[in-house]
Amino acid sequence: MRARRARPPGYTDRVSSHAKLVQSHECRQCCTFCDRVVHPAGCIESSCPYLYLYDDEASGQRYMGCLGNVFRVEIDVEVFEDAERTRQGYGGVRMSGRPTPRCRTSVERAYEGDGDPFACVNPGFFDQPETGPDPAESLELRDRL
Ligand code: SF4
Ligand code: SF4
Repeated sequence: MRARRARPPGYTDRVSSHAKLVQSHECRQCCTFCDRVVHPAGCIESSCPYLYLYDDEASGQRYMGCLGNVFRVEIDVEVFEDAERTRQGYGGVRMSGRPTPRCRTSVERAYEGDGDPFACVNPGFFDQPETGPDPAESLELRDRL
């Protein structure tokens, strides 16, 4: 009889694929703590078909989000527009999925500091992340199926 391979102590299950993806958009290899972000202003400028808007009946607020889950938060449109009127703009939200060629992305750091603890040991993290198909192509393909 073949012996069953024992489960290593302390682990209950495998890391989910979503967790792996989130991990790939963050780097914690030094004290700077960097995250890839996506800028919703770019979604509007590129007229991305994955950008959705909805009105919440209870609050009367309008929200926007990404159908492709490149970011998962839903953004209050009024707050976004107010921020966009300032010099700084709204900025970015945490990337959670594979970006598309339309997504405007950047890397943001949480902490600044000097010396070895803050010295980058993963410069490749600043390269453009791998992109998936353009949303317009994906939707066209889905319509054809
Ligand atoms: S796919 Fe990219 S550009 Fe389109 S809505 Fe999502 S984050 Fe914005
Ligand atoms: S500075 Fe470099 S090593 Fe440090 S967290 Fe950012 S990408 Fe990672």
